Amino acid sequence: MSPASWRAGVAPAPGDRACPGCGQVHPAARTEVVIGAEALDALVAWLDEHAWEHVVVVSDANTDEAVADTLSRRLATTRRRVTRCRFPERAGLAADEEATETARAALRAAGPDGALVAGSGTLNDITRFATHLESLDYLSVPTAASMDGYASSVAAMQFDGLKVSFSARAPLGIFADTRVLAAAPAEMTSWGLGDLLGKATARFDWLLSEAVTGEPYCPVIAEAVAAPLERCTRDPEGLLAGDEEGISTLAAGLVESGLAMAMAGSSRPASGSEHHCSHFWDLLAHRGLRGHAPHGLQVAHATAAILRLQLDALDRLEAGLSVPPGRRSTEEDRWLGESADSEQVEKVRREKAELWEAYAPRWPPPPSELADARRRLESASEGFPRVRSALRALGIPPDGSDRLGLQPFELDPETLEATLRFANRMRPRFSVLDLLESQGRLDTLARTTAEPRG
Ligand SMILES: [Zn+2]
Ligand SMILES: [Zn+2]
Repeated sequence: MSPASWRAGVAPAPGDRACPGCGQVHPAARTEVVIGAEALDALVAWLDEHAWEHVVVVSDANTDEAVADTLSRRLATTRRRVTRCRFPERAGLAADEEATETARAALRAAGPDGALVAGSGTLNDITRFATHLESLDYLSVPTAASMDGYASSVAAMQFDGLKVSFSARAPLGIFADTRVLAAAPAEMTSWGLGDLLGKATARFDWLLSEAVTGEPYCPVIAEAVAAPLERCTRDPEGLLAGDEEGISTLAAGLVESGLAMAMAGSSRPASGSEHHCSHFWDLLAHRGLRGHAPHGLQVAHATAAILRLQLDALDRLEAGLSVPPGRRSTEEDRWLGESADSEQVEKVRREKAELWEAYAPRWPPPPSELADARRRLESASEGFPRVRSALRALGIPPDGSDRLGLQPFELDPETLEATLRFANRMRPRFSVLDLLESQGRLDTLARTTAEPRG
């Protein structure tokens, strides 16, 4: 049975209507999305419609076999000019200066109407950044349901070994052939599911920030992220077993959360403290203190731990806040290393201190407001048990502190404890970690959450 195809993304023109959920005007996504067995037909039709006669196809050794070779042959039969930009790597390709320059040189030499990228995270980042610098548009042909960045307008690059994000342009179209996605390595699908499960804790953090700091929250965008999460947690085993329908649902969910981020104009709807933990592990890996691990796998492990902290936060939501005394400690410096003094971490410290000073005296709010906040957070936590079972399907037990999940992942109690204590130094965004820290409860909860359980 062929899976139902899924189309979205052709939203109304920007600036014409206020959102019924929050009253703001969200930028409309202009990305056309087709996920299904007919995706490549739709891609050819798109090229016809937009008169793209000459395209550069960006790929690597794996994605050549997965789809790029077939796609290029097929495009050649439509009398298009196809120029290939092939990275020879099978593993270890990074979105760095060198790869960007290679792609830019290919684009400059060819002078195409646009680019097509056949690949997942890294190749999309390289192409997104290179086309942006060359003022070209591109279409994405995903090869795995492994991450939520296909619709993104942000290029996550690794320059000088450090992760840096640049604004670039989102693809004009995403055309995902579900047979290609289903043929991807199973572990890549599990990373995608891991990234999607993190949307549950991201949503809770967003609502919590609305309650405590008054940050604008949009229920329409939140629902656009929550609905695919709900669908994907119904049968995680089937999805991980690689059935096309499940993979199609996952791919659609990941793309939908990417589009939701584009609508929100930030990653807030899809990224909270679970992502900050993942950034913290990236930092430790950069310092040589642990191995690099796939993004979605890290997010899954972090989500398991954050779920517990969010339920703890809900239990004592009414506890008053104070500006944490003596925030910067030698312990913190030891984990953050040189970055403890970096501009980024300093900026985060400053912004968080301002947040606390402004909002600590106002928390808890009057009883009716507190009850309202609690009710909304409880409703956001209703899906937590399903997220837990999906984490279990990924081989991650609920305490998040295991050493061996579906894929080897080292996380000793000491590192997990430090992660929960200091991950909120990674980004200025308010999360449950900030609430617990200003309630004076974070250190204890980090320790008990990280304790190995029998
Ligand atoms: Zn809205
Ligand atoms: Zn993510």
